[in-house]
Amino acid sequence: MTDLHTHAEEIHEQFTDQLDVSVDDVEERLDTLVNEYQVPISEARRSVTNSYLDEAGLDREDIGGGSGGNETVQAADVDAPEEWVDMTAKVVELWEPRSDAVAQVGLLGDETGTIKFTKWSKSDLPELDEGATYHLRNVVTDEYQGRFSVKLNRTTVIEETDEEIEVGDDALEVEGALVDIQSGSGLIKRCPDEDCTRVLQNGRCSEHGEVEGEFDLRIKGVLDDGEDVTEVIFDQDATENLTGITLEEAKDMAMDALDTSVVVEEMQGTIMGRYYRVEGPTFGRYLLADEVETLTDAVDPEATLIKARSI
Ligand SMILES: [Zn+2]
Repeated sequence: MTDLHTHAEEIHEQFTDQLDVSVDDVEERLDTLVNEYQVPISEARRSVTNSYLDEAGLDREDIGGGSGGNETVQAADVDAPEEWVDMTAKVVELWEPRSDAVAQVGLLGDETGTIKFTKWSKSDLPELDEGATYHLRNVVTDEYQGRFSVKLNRTTVIEETDEEIEVGDDALEVEGALVDIQSGSGLIKRCPDEDCTRVLQNGRCSEHGEVEGEFDLRIKGVLDDGEDVTEVIFDQDATENLTGITLEEAKDMAMDALDTSVVVEEMQGTIMGRYYRVEGPTFGRYLLADEVETLTDAVDPEATLIKARSI
């Protein structure tokens, strides 16, 4: 845990001009909240900061920052609320504000990923354009349910720049053993409707009814890294690479057996229990396998036993 004294110093710094409080005063208030009332530090900081704002008769926007002195951060660096930072970022998306208090809301992005931003109506700042890149000085970080964002306020300085920013995706990388292959894997049929492509159940699309399906290969697998499980979807390419079975071969196998389920059974034999490193974007609870690397030829039975005993 970052010591309370450091947090106290950071809060104190914002009020040195406005209030006659010592770092110890701040630390004492934090200490009461955190150690006596078990309030998480982020909430304690917010609460103590707000109480000093009240005492000084200030809005949050009136404190902190100033010109210069802020740390320049990237989207993925933001990991604490109430920090005054500078950043250079591209407006990736603008959303419809759901409150009159908000002038603009959306996503800012840089090489490290994206972060939500909010621009208050009363802060009277210029309009941000989607796709444009800006130097943003004096923005405040915030946190809501573990997700971080930045707020543009009255003191924020916005400067458009020609700098080209390649916005990174929030790709996930997981390493683990493939411990399950879920139903709907192997040789499947999809609805031929271009905007639909739902997987058919017994020849029926849940939207379009009975249709002439198109064959596809897919694996919905579960990777276990020893602590967590991640559901991973392998598309046709990834499935072919993973199993060594092509779509054509899979169709032949199914034709010979008059049964598509032989395909997934064959695949299970090849890939279950093996270790993989999978990287890709996340979609809901699924990780979409863009890059797949096999880590070992097969799981060492001894190691598996040891692991099983330790669970
Ligand atoms: Zn359909």
